[in-house]
Amino acid sequence: MEKEKNAAELLMEKLAFKKEHFSKAMSDEEILKADGFCEGYKHFLQEGKTERECVEYVLEKAAAKGFTEFDKTKTYKAGDKVYVNNRGKSVILAVMGKNGAKEGVKIVASHIDSPRLDLKPTPLYEDSELAYFKTHYYGGIKKYQWVAIPLSLHGVMIKADGESVKINIGEKEGEPKFVVTDLLPHLGKEQGTRNLNEGIKGEELNILIGSRPFKSDAGSELVKLNILNILHEKYGVTEKDFISAELELVPAFPVSDIGFDRSLIGAYGHDDRVCAYPAMEAVFDCDAPERTIVTVLSDKEEVGSDGNTGLNSSYLKYFIYDLADMDGVKGRDVLSKSECLSADVNAGFDPNFPSVHDKYNCCTLNHGAVITKYTGARGKSGTSDASAEFMGKVRRVLDNANVSWQIGELGKVDEGGGGTVAMYIANLGVDVVDLGVPVLSMHAPYEIVSKFDVYSTYRACYEFYKAD
Ligand code: MN
Ligand code: MN
Repeated sequence: MEKEKNAAELLMEKLAFKKEHFSKAMSDEEILKADGFCEGYKHFLQEGKTERECVEYVLEKAAAKGFTEFDKTKTYKAGDKVYVNNRGKSVILAVMGKNGAKEGVKIVASHIDSPRLDLKPTPLYEDSELAYFKTHYYGGIKKYQWVAIPLSLHGVMIKADGESVKINIGEKEGEPKFVVTDLLPHLGKEQGTRNLNEGIKGEELNILIGSRPFKSDAGSELVKLNILNILHEKYGVTEKDFISAELELVPAFPVSDIGFDRSLIGAYGHDDRVCAYPAMEAVFDCDAPERTIVTVLSDKEEVGSDGNTGLNSSYLKYFIYDLADMDGVKGRDVLSKSECLSADVNAGFDPNFPSVHDKYNCCTLNHGAVITKYTGARGKSGTSDASAEFMGKVRRVLDNANVSWQIGELGKVDEGGGGTVAMYIANLGVDVVDLGVPVLSMHAPYEIVSKFDVYSTYRACYEFYKAD
């Protein structure tokens, strides 16, 4: 029999806010559901390692679910499903609501770009009989983590005649991979005195791509020539075609369960595919929403959301203006009545590095989707700080649907900071708060999340869409 609670225990239960591990709230059946959901997520991670590959994956799945390309001259009815493909690098998915856009729309926004190494415009060179690519890293990385690991090459090259050639090499069994070499410890004395940020410098992130010369009695740079010859035979490209290309090197590790209990997933690019996938599944599963629902999967978040495929541009705004026009209302009126979950990750508490977190306000693995009221740095600069009213609404929606959620702040005050797409959407006049998955080793080539938190984030997005 359960021991009777004393007055203090009862009062504590009534008044205090306690963080709860999921195992207290979840049945075995729900845990199975969460694990099953994550099998789909793992497949998405493996297939979509770049923003372009994610858009392709999403569009294929959306077409199978009955989504058609948005046409602003058409009339749509409740339940109609549309997509907008922004240059193959960002995508909008929407389901028309019973009330259309008149009372505002519900947006879940996340990003599908991740930190990586991009090739420079003229990347190919030969040095000391070895061939290399020069790179310029993309997003916030700890450069020393990107050496001595297998990398794969993804992207497109546009040839002189305008033809687009897709590249994806290093993922499949038996395909060659690429690597940045590091110094052996025996000769690393000088390198060892550099600080960690300088341990590997930006211009040292050169990719080893070959070592055999083209067979010839005369000529120079024959190793480089041999690589050019292979590329020409395989893809029909020349060295000049690198200038009109977007080629990205990403870790070639396969996606894996982590731990004896298989409770975690290790992979490249959880940030932010771990929120993009739940956002996509939620819009697929919410058939007949009251208000029109919109999932935006965007490019360029890791470099500040600038550029015409990032959310600091107008592509989302223009889509909502088109919806407003169809309903005979003003775009600005739709935006100011709209609500948004900016679905992005937060830093999970890491017991190896406890000092950077405020233990009363950080998020923890297996405690569910994390709501981040504000991000930013140096006194809440560069963020959208969600209002008490909107926080109250989101909290009610999640509690009423029994979704596991927690509160998180990105590190201690003045420890560092970061940002998401939240402020760009808030700047349109929309109510926004960040919600997503706690991550360990964020922005490393191999990041860690909990399966339960991924599933909770899906449930949060779905219930947000369903709620009026
Ligand atoms: Mn992110
Ligand atoms: Mn990030």
